[in-house]
Amino acid sequence: MLARIVSSVFPLECPGCGRPGDPVCTDCLTRIVPAAIAPPPDGIDAWWAAFSYEGIAREVVARVKYRGAHAVTAWLAGAMVTHLAPPVPSVVTWVPTTPDRRRERGFDHAELLARQVGRRIARPTRRLLSRGPGLPQTGQAAAARRLGPTIAPRTIAPATVLLIDDVTTTGASLHAAAVALQSAGAVRIVALTAARTPLPSRSSAGAPRAGRDLGTRL
Ligand SMILES: [Zn+2]
Repeated sequence: MLARIVSSVFPLECPGCGRPGDPVCTDCLTRIVPAAIAPPPDGIDAWWAAFSYEGIAREVVARVKYRGAHAVTAWLAGAMVTHLAPPVPSVVTWVPTTPDRRRERGFDHAELLARQVGRRIARPTRRLLSRGPGLPQTGQAAAARRLGPTIAPRTIAPATVLLIDDVTTTGASLHAAAVALQSAGAVRIVALTAARTPLPSRSSAGAPRAGRDLGTRL
């Protein structure tokens, strides 16, 4: 809960230029790079991402992930839903973070994003998945990350599900979540993520790094 208190005490300032007022100012918004097109991971029928995970977008995600900053989360969810194509699934859920991370921060940033997305598209947001203790994807060796996290269904899943996550690289987390949802009855699973890591050739060398532990998630 400390993170919530901190985010409510410190005023909003644009991560690109430091200007106070909005989660991202209109000038810096034009500098955010859209996500590169990528095929959906196995088990996912369609996958959209709002931004490329670099520069300002990377800092926006960090503010959601480490601080749970409410206004920034709402802004990011608003940007995400503009990419969603119909038909809209009946229920929204998210790729859960590890229990340790959730305890440490006092919230699950993917859940915060999912609830904001659900509100915007007028669909219920439900906790359909649970995650095994294991290590968070951040900081793991590439080979281990490709295997994906241990994710299991918590309950029977609806036929169509919108799966939310923050950052995706190889799609192993989305794939693991899709397998769990399918085993619980889901038929059509689409994913919407805040950011997708850029292709190696497009990665911007001078992108600002912010916060701590900004390792890449799957
Ligand atoms: Zn700015």
